[in-house]
Amino acid sequence: MEPGHPYTRLLAPFRYASQKDFAQLASVRGLRPLLEATVRDAEALEPGDPVILKALRRAMLQVEDASLEVRKVGVLQVLSALQRAGALSTGPAPAPEAKPPRRKVATGRKEAHSEARLLSIAPRSGPLATPLKNLGFKLNPRLVSALNRKGVHKAGDVLFLLPRCYEDRRRLKKIVELVPGERAATVGVVRSAGEVAYRPGKKLFRAVISDGTGSVSVTFFQSGPWMKARFPLGKQLLISGELRLTPGGAEISHPEVEPAEDAASSSIHFGRLVPIYPGFERHEQRQFRELAFRVGKAHAQHLEEPLPDKLREGLGLMRLSDAVSAIHFPQGDEDLEKLNLHISPAHRRLAFDELFFLHLGMALKRHGVKVEPGIAFRVDGARLTRARRLLPFQLTSAQARVVSEIANDMAKPEPMNRLLQGDVGSGKTAVALVAASLAIEDGYQVALMAPTEILAAQHHRTLCRLLGPSGVSAGLFTSGGAPRERRALRERLCAGEVQLAVGTHALLEASSEFKRLGLVIIDEQHRFGVLQRHTLMAKGVRPDVLVMTATPIPRTLAMTLYGDLDLSVIDELPPGRTPVLTRVFFERHRARVYEAMGEGLARGNQCYVVYPLVEESEKLDLADATQGARHLADAFPGVRVGLLHGRMKAEEKDAVMADFVSGAVQLLVSTTVIEVGVDVPNAAVMVIEHAERFGLSQLHQLRGRVGRGAAQSLCLLVVGGTPSALAAERLDVMVKSTDGFVIAEKDLELRGPGEFLGTRQSGLPELAVANLARDQLLSSRAAELARAVVQEDPRLERPEHAGLVKALEERWEGRLALARVG
Ligand code: ADP
Ligand code: MG
Repeated sequence: MEPGHPYTRLLAPFRYASQKDFAQLASVRGLRPLLEATVRDAEALEPGDPVILKALRRAMLQVEDASLEVRKVGVLQVLSALQRAGALSTGPAPAPEAKPPRRKVATGRKEAHSEARLLSIAPRSGPLATPLKNLGFKLNPRLVSALNRKGVHKAGDVLFLLPRCYEDRRRLKKIVELVPGERAATVGVVRSAGEVAYRPGKKLFRAVISDGTGSVSVTFFQSGPWMKARFPLGKQLLISGELRLTPGGAEISHPEVEPAEDAASSSIHFGRLVPIYPGFERHEQRQFRELAFRVGKAHAQHLEEPLPDKLREGLGLMRLSDAVSAIHFPQGDEDLEKLNLHISPAHRRLAFDELFFLHLGMALKRHGVKVEPGIAFRVDGARLTRARRLLPFQLTSAQARVVSEIANDMAKPEPMNRLLQGDVGSGKTAVALVAASLAIEDGYQVALMAPTEILAAQHHRTLCRLLGPSGVSAGLFTSGGAPRERRALRERLCAGEVQLAVGTHALLEASSEFKRLGLVIIDEQHRFGVLQRHTLMAKGVRPDVLVMTATPIPRTLAMTLYGDLDLSVIDELPPGRTPVLTRVFFERHRARVYEAMGEGLARGNQCYVVYPLVEESEKLDLADATQGARHLADAFPGVRVGLLHGRMKAEEKDAVMADFVSGAVQLLVSTTVIEVGVDVPNAAVMVIEHAERFGLSQLHQLRGRVGRGAAQSLCLLVVGGTPSALAAERLDVMVKSTDGFVIAEKDLELRGPGEFLGTRQSGLPELAVANLARDQLLSSRAAELARAVVQEDPRLERPEHAGLVKALEERWEGRLALARVG
């Protein structure tokens, strides 16, 4: 194609949209107008290829569909059409990660997860536990070792390795009907076959197949006598693959081939919707498909149904065994698109299954925590009033509501397990303080754990100031400090003399033993894993636990993540706050950034300047911040500039922070160590350098450091270089919204739930079919039903729940044990 052809305009944006498994697609705008303009221009040029134009027109609606999945299909259509137009090979060299989706487009669907994802619900006993080598089928040893590498060892594992996509080989096309760029199946007779040299010393094998309507070459890059044997002249063969136009004519390279007479007796590979499995080479693909078919035939019906019939039928879900059969070998009348989007009825059944057992495990865990006796704190009106009076301000009504929820929990004999969610600056610390003083007044110790030393030190300072006058003794536990002092502090903790222990991970160390730990408060939960929470809980006799987070996780996700916690939400900011004004500046506008900073400083407000953490190089990172600090000292003579970074010793950090809190330092330059929770109400300007490198939640957290007083606060996002479309979108969200909930939803959309939640850290299993972002409704339904089951039959003793018990044991082995840690 001509370099200047209108189609070439589509290349960069559509490639970009498909990169990184479509990670950026959600942020790409304007694909439809671009398509429209391109089609108009292409039509004006010449009578273009109608197939391409048709594909582009069809994609117009798809690329602006509300569903990301449909948008993906649209993008793939366009890329496929461009490939057909020859634009993909004449376009600019793709970025390394771009790998123009040649192969991906060829299969009609991007490899959503080229890594095989095994549904972790394969049975561990019975016929499905038969090892591959005892199946009684002859298996290629190379296939077996490839399977073992994927974690497939038993018959059941084969059934739970799910197809990535499906190919429509229901109808055999005439050769004349084959369309370049599309995968299809056809049948024809071998007219010629043999080796041809395509480059000096390089041979390929080519056979010509024809059917009376036309002929097509099939080519293979490997050659040898066995190839010739597969293509005897006059033999009728079934062929499946993608037709391409080459200078030598129409050609299918490396097709799947099968003698037509085999297919007469119902083939596995032809005349049906054919599954394509992730991560297999072409020949292994066929071998595995055969294996899946045979195992399915022999064993799928042995899969026990874990769901009670009533529940399953109520939801209109198919049986597990039927779903597994259908997912590998769908009926001829199934919807191809739904199958490929993994939303066919069989997929929905498996998705529900995954979510339901996740929630069931969680509901049981939560119930388990509830039934074991904990501490019933003595909480009465007088005590509550006394605790609230410790604060220098009135609680907001949201804080008051949350405080009474917590006080209620604390008064009950069963252990509290509560998640407190509140946007940055909503005043979670005040709530924690009330809870802590209730526990202390009743003679118990309290542990408050923060994710960073700066934050721990700040909490320690605040609590000492407010609780000190009433005689409470508090200790700060971090990894720094002199060994002797640390030992002394620990001894006092052990003796029960320290009533309030504030600290970092150091609190988790076995050496910090409490005498009478009654309440555990964890600030900024998302930094800690489930396991850490349980480690700290294990230090007391079933202490009450309050977890605080500023990440306003969308409710359904919160249910999934923290299903074992009750939820309290502070949905109101303390009075007198003026929303922070956010602006984006490019490097060339630096003078205006300094101007705004200068004005803030002149008014007597303090100012933060934050540099991103450069992961590859701590040194570089430091150099950036250090240099920045020097520049600023020059730019603002008379203003005291402080520098804070991760490589400083704890005491040095504390000293700088203390100077900033006291106002001795007016301008604080730091790396992201400042991110979480720091509270200096007089700070009113936040400058974020290289703002394009930060994630949305992080930007929101940083911005939350200002806007805590009555003064109009500013957040200046300084962009170095040209931001990517995704970064630009993040910055735009920041300018438009200060609502943590809106920002979290957007963040979820831009990043996907796995990254958003940090699945690995949170201890959630990977889901193979269900998708937490897409399946929020299904997930909350599953949660509801799981909780109802536990409510009615907490020990799952009823006969209809036997299947649940078995499945839980098999699927959650090891993971449920966590419940017993705490
Ligand atoms: P969070 O931890 O939720 O981000 P903080 O507990 O640090 O928020 O509180 C933010 C600021 O708001 C602090 O300066 C705190 O003293 C102040 N604050 C909290 N609650 C109130 C209230 N009810 N009225 C006035 N100021 C409050
Ligand atoms: Mg906080």
